[in-house]
Amino acid sequence: MTQQPLPDSLISYLEQRGAAHADAVTTMFSTLTDRERALIKDAAAMGYVRGRMHPEGEPHPKDSAVLVEVIDACLAFPDLYPAINAHLTVPLCTECGHTGDEHEEGDDPVTPGICAACPEDDGRHDYEPAPAVTEAPGQ
Ligand SMILES: [Zn+2]
Ligand SMILES: [Zn+2]
Repeated sequence: MTQQPLPDSLISYLEQRGAAHADAVTTMFSTLTDRERALIKDAAAMGYVRGRMHPEGEPHPKDSAVLVEVIDACLAFPDLYPAINAHLTVPLCTECGHTGDEHEEGDDPVTPGICAACPEDDGRHDYEPAPAVTEAPGQ
C-alpha cells in the first residue's frame, strides 16, 4: 500500500477532535478547586518526569507504586512541587482527620456539614480544623 495524504475531511475531523479534547480538559479543570488543580499539576508533571526516566523494557510498575514514587519525588523538591508539599501544612479535621476540602457545610444552620472522605455513617459533622502542626517549607 502506498502512503496516501490524508483527505481534507479527515484532517478537519482530527483538528476538531483536538479542539474538543482541549475543551473537555478546560471544562474538567474549571470544576476543580485551586488546590485540586495545583495537586494534579504537580503529580502530572512529576509523573511525566519519572516516566521519562523509566528504563526501557522494564515492566511498568503498579499504580500504587507509581503513586508512592511520584509523591515521594515531589516531596524531595518542595520549591518545584509546592502544592503536594503545601498539603503537609493543611490543617486536618480533628473529628475525622480529613482535609477541609473534603468537607461541605450543611444546607442550613441546624444541619451539620458532611465529609465526603468519611464512610457514610461518620461523615455527618462540621469541619473542625486542627492547628497546623508543620511549618510551610522554607519558613
Ligand atoms: Zn471531618
Ligand atoms: Zn472525614
